[in-house]
Amino acid sequence: MVKVVKFGGSSLASAEQFKKVADIIHAEDSRRFVVPSAPGKRFSADTKVTDMLYTCYDVAAKGKDFDDKFNEIKKRYYEIIEGLGLDISLEKDFEAIKAGFIGKAGRDFAASRGEFLNGKVLAAYLGYEFIDAAEVIHFNDNGTFDAALTDTAMKERLNGIERAVIPGFYGVMPNDTIKTFSRGGSDITGSIVAAAVSADLYENWTDVSGFLIADPRIIDDPAPIRTITYKELRELSYMGATVLHEDAIFPVRKVGIPINIKNTNAPEDPGTMIVESTSQKPEFTITGIAGKKGFTVINIEKELMNAELGFGRKVLEVFEKNEINFEHMPSGIDTMSVIVSQAEFEPKEQEVLAGLHRNVKPDVIDIETDLALIAVVGRAMKSNRGTAGRIFAALAHSNVNVKMIDQGSSELNIIIGVSEAEFAPALKAIYDIFVTAKL
Ligand code: ADP
Ligand code: ASP
Ligand code: MG
Repeated sequence: MVKVVKFGGSSLASAEQFKKVADIIHAEDSRRFVVPSAPGKRFSADTKVTDMLYTCYDVAAKGKDFDDKFNEIKKRYYEIIEGLGLDISLEKDFEAIKAGFIGKAGRDFAASRGEFLNGKVLAAYLGYEFIDAAEVIHFNDNGTFDAALTDTAMKERLNGIERAVIPGFYGVMPNDTIKTFSRGGSDITGSIVAAAVSADLYENWTDVSGFLIADPRIIDDPAPIRTITYKELRELSYMGATVLHEDAIFPVRKVGIPINIKNTNAPEDPGTMIVESTSQKPEFTITGIAGKKGFTVINIEKELMNAELGFGRKVLEVFEKNEINFEHMPSGIDTMSVIVSQAEFEPKEQEVLAGLHRNVKPDVIDIETDLALIAVVGRAMKSNRGTAGRIFAALAHSNVNVKMIDQGSSELNIIIGVSEAEFAPALKAIYDIFVTAKL
């Protein structure tokens, strides 16, 4: 039995947390490959080391004095090292990092040092071998992940190795510069390592007892999800349930390795199992709810739009030319709405409007901003009649105005658009009807 265990930032934020992590690893002989994040927040107003590194590098890149900021980062590690009573020095590493900052080695290099150093500390504490992710995680010239080369390099490097710590979040480009995944990317590293060593299980240890039905920062003490499918998880994580990086499922999914989300602060809790498919009936009609703010909807009206061949294509062409992704495109007979990220749309607004007028000569274009999207996700919705009806009744009852609905053709999700101001009340209303009232 082999398990790959990834520990998130809050699980490794202090010496006290490191001790919990070591207890977890030592509790099972199968926990042989460990992927750490950089030290995260120790308390809610704290700053993650990753963010400290970005800030420090930005100061350095401007040619300003960055000693103070750099020393604060050093302090975070030395507090951990001393708290654990370890006899190691990172001075040489800090000197090399400083030289990298002065030599403008890049923001990715800077950020990656958080995981690199934490990996070294954890390896020393566990007595495991340290393997630099730059030896085993590879990116292509264009910055995309090189799965084939990584798999070969990882298998070769890990061959014959019993136990190792491999830092998360970064890898190397063909020109030897360091590149990171997007934020939260240590989850991806864990998944890649799990696939490479053909692990039986990928345990992802964090600060909550699994994937919860809703965001705990919005809903008080939400119930955990015991089992969720990869598909459901993808819908939820794409829509803002950021427990696990949305790309972290691909490497393990291909080879059928389940993921278990566990709580470092409550290791006895079963957490959430993420699986390809399951015969287990979910406890509630819905598996989870998630949502994101920051969308704009562009409503296009034109009489007899339905009879105009290629209308949809011409509309989307305008967005494509302006390099704006569309999220959803609900349509009526003479109306079509395109929902896009506000941040992507705003700088190109006038180009898009001009393009639409040119391409499809609409009667009216109306723009609505500050929209939030909510995804209600569940494999059981397909076989439960009237789910949409119950959602709308709950929202109407809470005086939430629904601006848009879109049901995925898989019947796995229903997307609802509401104003940002009504985001939290809408989430609460949906949670209450399905989970609290079990309707
Ligand atoms: P780590 O540092 O361990 O990778 P993250 O901060 O990336 O942890 O992810 C865990 C956090 O995700 C939780 O502390 C919680 O605030 C947030 N979160 C958002 N939505 C959910 C959800 N549906 N279930 C659980 N946690 C959620
Ligand atoms: N430390 C990185 C971040 O804060 C990566 C991770 O935690 O997964 O985004
Ligand atoms: Mg994370």
